[in-house]
Amino acid sequence: MEFRDLKRQYQYLKENIDSKIQEVICHADFIQGREVVELEELLADYAGTKHCVTCANGTDALQLALMAWNIGEGDAVFVPDFTFFSSGEVVSAVNAVPVFVDIEPDTYNIDGDSLETVIRKTVQEGRLTPKAIVAVDLFGQPADYGKLRRIAEQYHMFILEDAAQGFGGRIGEKKACSFGDISTTSFFPAKPLGCYGDGGAIFTDNDEWAALLRSYRVHGKGSSKYDNVRIGMNSRLDTLQAAVLLAKFPVFMEKELDWMQRIAAEYTGQLADVVQTPFIKEGFYSSWAQYTIQLPEKAVRNGLQSYLKEQGIPSAVYYQKPMHRQQAFAGNEYDDKGYPVANMLSDIVLSLPFHPYMTEEEILLVTGVVKKYIKG
Ligand SMILES: *Cc1c(COP(=O)(O)O)cnc(C)c1O
Repeated sequence: MEFRDLKRQYQYLKENIDSKIQEVICHADFIQGREVVELEELLADYAGTKHCVTCANGTDALQLALMAWNIGEGDAVFVPDFTFFSSGEVVSAVNAVPVFVDIEPDTYNIDGDSLETVIRKTVQEGRLTPKAIVAVDLFGQPADYGKLRRIAEQYHMFILEDAAQGFGGRIGEKKACSFGDISTTSFFPAKPLGCYGDGGAIFTDNDEWAALLRSYRVHGKGSSKYDNVRIGMNSRLDTLQAAVLLAKFPVFMEKELDWMQRIAAEYTGQLADVVQTPFIKEGFYSSWAQYTIQLPEKAVRNGLQSYLKEQGIPSAVYYQKPMHRQQAFAGNEYDDKGYPVANMLSDIVLSLPFHPYMTEEEILLVTGVVKKYIKG
């Protein structure tokens, strides 16, 4: 069994993907070809934002956003303590300081009350200027943007939505990738909408920032890439990857999202009595980047993971280590006691195999093994 079966997805989509790739190889516009332009229009239209600027990966997408806002030395950026490394890495990469914030125990997303406490403390200390909140849509569920927007406005901060895992999710009818002042996503193969390599995109309604993002992603270009008006980077989405995404997007929207809702419901139906299953807030829709359960304690989690492995079932721990415990951030001296929820969850979470092409038999196999282990 595969954790996320991309081969099965390819078999389903093969004809369309092959022909889209073939077209690119024939017209040979491998960099910024027409598929890239078409994809940007399609994604902006989907998200309901004025602009979509594609780039090389989801990490660059975040960093480019911070660059467009000119965030740097002396600035504080608030980041959830429980996320993939990139969400905090980019803050240090632009020489600002990531200030980690504890999370909600049920949604895994940044906790509004902890955020306010940490912002007030940062303001009182007076060493750093609060500039932005990175809100991550972890495991596919959007963060609580109603609450976050009130806090951001009170402290005059930007919201950067990291929807690397959230693409396809929504709150009511409002789509992920439209909640931030700037929002980003990743097309890494295992993300909800993945390409066949690295890829990313940035979304905003702001014309000035969109123009800056388009400049920064091509060596800080002015009128052309040989007229360089600022220090940028080389971060473009390959035309081939845009072609793969154009082939995948309609099926993701029309079928895969529904299939994942159904599979998640089946998983939860089977497992709700034995383990802590995912909690989705009223009116929120997840894109199911992960199906993550909680076990009563670390030994049970680790035992279950070994038992699953023995039965040929892959699983993963997202995340083993909260951000504040990562060695790379050791210079910032975080107080380990400030993150009780993230610390606790890193010991007891387990993500199960999950993708839109899972069969009924596979779901029952996985849930059967989990039940057998828990019930003894
Ligand atoms: C995957 C991921 C990223 C980074 O995306 P890449 O395309 O791999 O650079 C950033 N943030 C989160 C939350 C992610 O899951």
